[in-house]
Formats: sequence, structure tokens, C-alpha cells
Amino acid sequence: MTENFATTVLGAARIGPGRELKRAVESYWAGRIDADALHTVGFELRRDGLAALAAAGLDSVPVGTFSYYDHMLDMSVLLGALPARVAGIEDELDRYFAAARGNDTVQPLEMTKWFDTNYHYLVPELSASTEFALNPAKILGELEDALAQGIPARPVVIGPITYLLLSKALDGSNLLDRLDDLLPLYVSLLGQLRAAGAQWVQIDEPALVKDLDADQIATVSRVYETLSSAVDRPAILVASYFGRLGEALPALAATEIEGVALDLVAGAVPAVPLNGKLLVAGVVDGRNIWRTDLDNALTTLRSLAGPVAVSTSCSLLHVPYTLAAETGIDDALRGWLAFGAEKLSEVALLSHAVAEGVDSVARPLAAARAALATRATDPRLNNPAVRARLAGLTDSDARRGDDRAAAQAEAIALPVLPMTTIGSFPQTAQIRVARAELRKGLIDEAEYTSRMKREIADVIDLQENLGIDVLVHGEPERNDMVQYFAEQLDGFFATQSGWVQSYGSRCVRPPVLFGDVSRPAPMTVDWAHYAQNLTTKPVKGMLTGPVTILAWAFVRDDQPLAETADQVALAIRDETVDLEAAGIKVIQVDEPALRELLPLRNADKQPYLDWAVRAFRISTSGVADVTSVHTHLCYSEFGEVIDAIVALDADVTSIEAARSHMEVLRDLNEVGFHLGVGPGVYDIHSPRVPSVVEIERLLREALDAVPASRLWVNPDCGLKTRGTTEVEESLRNMVEATLMVRARL
Ligand code: GLN
Ligand code: ZN
Repeated sequence: MTENFATTVLGAARIGPGRELKRAVESYWAGRIDADALHTVGFELRRDGLAALAAAGLDSVPVGTFSYYDHMLDMSVLLGALPARVAGIEDELDRYFAAARGNDTVQPLEMTKWFDTNYHYLVPELSASTEFALNPAKILGELEDALAQGIPARPVVIGPITYLLLSKALDGSNLLDRLDDLLPLYVSLLGQLRAAGAQWVQIDEPALVKDLDADQIATVSRVYETLSSAVDRPAILVASYFGRLGEALPALAATEIEGVALDLVAGAVPAVPLNGKLLVAGVVDGRNIWRTDLDNALTTLRSLAGPVAVSTSCSLLHVPYTLAAETGIDDALRGWLAFGAEKLSEVALLSHAVAEGVDSVARPLAAARAALATRATDPRLNNPAVRARLAGLTDSDARRGDDRAAAQAEAIALPVLPMTTIGSFPQTAQIRVARAELRKGLIDEAEYTSRMKREIADVIDLQENLGIDVLVHGEPERNDMVQYFAEQLDGFFATQSGWVQSYGSRCVRPPVLFGDVSRPAPMTVDWAHYAQNLTTKPVKGMLTGPVTILAWAFVRDDQPLAETADQVALAIRDETVDLEAAGIKVIQVDEPALRELLPLRNADKQPYLDWAVRAFRISTSGVADVTSVHTHLCYSEFGEVIDAIVALDADVTSIEAARSHMEVLRDLNEVGFHLGVGPGVYDIHSPRVPSVVEIERLLREALDAVPASRLWVNPDCGLKTRGTTEVEESLRNMVEATLMVRARL
């Protein structure tokens, strides 16, 4: 019998407290360091990370959640399931990175969001004929290192059901049919982990928190009966997170596995008996940054029957390393927060309280209570003016006139098939230099502003020369489309070092929305006004929508998201009204994250879409009917949100489509969409310059689905990640193709 453990987390961040892994991986890609040097950085990060987890008091430590790029990609390597097109690449690391990001000749795997987080994983490509083969070197090596270091290591892998459900079937087959081929590999892996000295193994099955049908539940039973009947294996912990388990829980409880990890932040304590299995209780939120209410957590822990271990609700991958790096916040605010390191202390403290009684942790418990107590009474969390505005909102504040097109057409004369772009232009070296110099104090605000204005003037010039119809200022002044607004709104703070991995070496620094949100002063009006004065063509005002601001921030957890969304919406609404007053006739409110926040369970989806749409409409209904409102959506399959897109009621919606061949237009037609639409005709995710012929063909396809009177012409998304020359050439081709199509209308 393997002994139970008492204190753990489900996984750890890997990018490094100072983003060391990001730097090392990028140096390797650039040829500045070799594979040995990269492996040394990886080894040291793992060693130091594991040491920190053990030092915090964990008696079972996850191992194998480290990755050079992505843990799903690592699973594809473990199962021998990398796509055939990279198989010929001799060098292991090069093969791995080719699958992750492509090379001159090879397309990378697709990337998509990991459940409802802002982390992206690489989607395995499988088919009925994929030949799996176990390749356990990475996990065995990391286990061996950890054990040599004296760490009570618990190797972590993604479970077979989640792996298959998150994969893409190249041949449209039902990938769960491949379980029979996969399970023997898992059984063999269990034996090897056991032989290498693992007492426990953690098998992640987050896909089980989604709605499953009866067949899929039966599959859960079958898979875990099979794995738990392996003769030679470590104790099995099946880990779920991001939601409650539902019917999958009794199925798991009936098998011979030894433990189940439950997310008790996202879901309540279930009434299902676990038959003596270890319940790894995720009572410390692994994906938000608030200090845990320890009294609440203790109440939850005491209500659990049978053996219990204290844990985070999910891997710490989703939160920054430590609050210690944040020097710019006041003590009250600091007292409400817990980043990765602080969450480890919370887990350890709770575990101590369970084992030794509350009295044994009386002092730290009282300190935590006192720090948290000020959160309920801090005036920043309860702004009467904001509350009053919110209470006074009526349906008419979320409605615009029914017939706006004529007024808008009169206000700005546009040709048929008007051309525009999504907002940002390439972030040039000069922009980056200016930002760095401002940060280091080498230049002052005035100099920075004048440099940004030069960038704006260049971008306006370029668009006029190309012949674009509705211009943008290019967003040079924005570091990030959410952070830029968070820095100017009350109720937010932008962290200094709160980096989290978004994908591969890309990290983001989500701002913290901690209080009532309001807009003390205009945020974008000067820039837009400056740009509009440079040209007689209309310049779009560019704003980020309330849903996207919520999706890409850490958001307060003390009130419903819908309420917070309405507060942000009012702040954006104020900005639209000021833009309009400054002479801006077209305003775009971006909502690229609309799809991303969609809840995992079907029953929760419509309530979410209702408040998300309402928040967008509040943010865009303060302007007159003569002002044209645009929105922009990207990064997703729009199927489940197609009705919501219609309900946004934006005068023009630009939408990612260059890769999906205009399917989205037909989907929109089917649900009765009748407003302007700009399907992307130029895939900005690739450096390739699309030819005139190609764009013309896409425009023709679009015209098959949409009358010319409603069709706009634009790229798929913003241009900020692209190079200047390639953007110029691509836009020139876009204009040429459009002129040709226009001429034949
Ligand atoms: N306006 C933004 C830009 O062009 C939109 C970015 C996005 O959709 N992610 O950069
Ligand atoms: Zn986009």
C-alpha cells in the first residue's frame, strides 16, 4: 500500500521567475546558444522549482509539468504522435520546435486555448491510422533527477481521454476509438514509472469537467478500470480542474484508482462517496490571484469525508511567480493578493491546520484574516458613483436605433466594398526603442508623445497612398490592448513582473481588476483626434471591449462577472462619447475574446452570452445613430457564439476568416445577420504576402454569401506582429484586388 500525502499543488509554472526559459529558448532559436546550454537552463529551472515546492512543505511534488514549449506537445512526443511532416527532422529538439512553430518548409501544429484559460496548447493531429509508440525519456529523466534531489516526486501526464478529446481528427474519425491502442502504452508507462521509483502518478483529465454523454462516462469507467488493474504501477491520482466532475466522479469512484483531485473553487463539494480514495482538495484558487479565505477553506476541508490532501485547484501555470516582485502596490492591496509563492504558503498552512488543529497556526491565520478584512471595506471596491450609474442602467442604455445605415452613409461617403484594417500597424524598432527609453527615463513624456505622433503620421500617409477608405492611427502608443486601458482606468493595477505563459515563449502580464472601475479621464481621444486632423478620410477610434478586458485580466472574485463587465462597459461608453464629441465618426470596439470566456458546461453558456452581449451593447450605445460602431472578433471557431455576434448589433463586424474560407459568412446568414461584415481576406498569422489573385478569389467567395452593399474588405486581425515591408505589400495587393472586384460589380 502506498501512503497518502497531505500537501500538494497540481503543477507549477515553468517559464522561470525572471522568464529565464523564455530567454533561453529564444536564444536557442536565434542560434545564440546550443542545445546543451538550453538543457542546462531547463535543468536548473526544474531543480530550483522543485526545491522551492519541497521547501514550502509539499510532501508530494508534481514532476514533469516542465516544458520547453507546451505540455500537450510533450504528450504527443511521449505517445510518439508528432505529425508525419516533422518525422524526417533528425535532431530531437529541432523536430520538437518544428512541430511547435514550423520552419521554412513545415507547417506547425494548430494552437488553441486550453479550456477557458488564456494559455494555448498545440493541438495533436491524429487519425485512425496514427501509430502510437511510447517515448518516455523526458518524464523518466525528470523523475530520476527529482528523486536524486530527494524530492517526493509525483510524475504528471495528461490522461488518455483528455488527450484524445483535445486532438484533431485529420480523417474525421472518432478519436476515442483509439483508446484501445493508447491504453497499453499508458500501462507500460505506469510500470516504468513504478520501476523508476514513483509512489504516485498524477493523470490529468480536465476534459471530464465538460458535459459528457453516457457513452463517454462508460469510457471513463473502462479506461480507469483498465489502468488501475495494471499489476505493476504507482498509486493513481486522477486530476480534474476548471470545473466540477459531474457524472464522471461516481464513475471514477467505482474504479480501483487511489485518488481524485477536485477543483473546489470552481465546483462545490460533491455528495459522492469516494470509497476511501484520497481526495486532493483544490481549495486554493490556482488561476486567480486573490488571497484565500482560509476560514472558508478550512470549513470546506472539515466537511470532507475520508482521507484528504490540501491542494491548489489547478496547476500554478496560470498565475505569476511571486508577489514579492511587486513593489508598486499599497499594503492594503498587497494583503488581498496571493501569487504562486503565496499560494504555496496557503496550501501548507491549511494542511498544517488540518493535521495539527487551528491553534497550531493561530498567528499566521489571524494575520491572513486581518489582511483580508480590509478588502470588504476598502472604498476603492465600492464607489458610490459607479454603483449609482450601474443601478440606473435600463434596457434603453443597451439599445441603438433600428435604422442607422442611412444616417451613417450620409455622414461619411464610402465606396462600395470599403477597405479598412483592424487597428494596429507593425510595432517598429523605433516604437520599441522609444518605449524602452521612456521606461528608463532617457526621454520624457513629451518626447515620447512626439515620436508616437511621427509614427501615426507615417501610418496615415501610408494608408492614404495605398487608397484605404477608413483609416486607423496604428496603435503605436499601446503596449497591449488590455493593459493600455487598465493603466488608465481606476480599479485596476498593472503588475511589474506578473508574467504568465500564454504559449511557447510568449508571456503576458495580465492586469489586476481589483475594485470598482471608472474612467477618470479620456484615454484615446488625443491620439484619435491628432490622427483625424491629418486626413480628410475617416479615422476609426480604437477601443477594447469589456469582455476582452475581463478575459485578459485577473478579475475580482467578490461579485458576479456580469456586474464587473457592466462597470467596464460604462467606462468604455464614456470613451466612445468623448471620441464622438471630438469628431470621430467610426469607433471600433474589439471583442476578440468573446468566444474564450464561454463556459465549459452547456447550461452556463447562454447566461454568459447574455451578459457579455449586454456589456458590449452598453459600451457602444452611448453614441448617436449617425456614428458607426465596428467590432472585431478573432481566434476561434464562432459556431457556438454566432447568435451572440448578431446580438452585438455592431454596424460592421470584422472577423477572422482567411483560413476558414468564408464559412463564417454562411453561418451568419443562417441566423439572420443583416449588418456590415468584413471577413478577413489576408491571414496575418503568417509572414506570407497574399497575392492579388488569392485575395480576389476570397472576395468573390465572400460575395457569394454577402451582398456587396454589406461587405467590407480587411485583414484577419491587427498587424502589429508583422514586418513593415510585408504589410505594405500585402495591403497593396488587398487594394488592387478590391479595385478589380469593384470595377466588375
Ligand atoms: N485592434 C487590435 C489590433 O489591431 C485588435 C487585436 C486583436 O484582435 N487581438 O491590434
Ligand atoms: Zn484579431
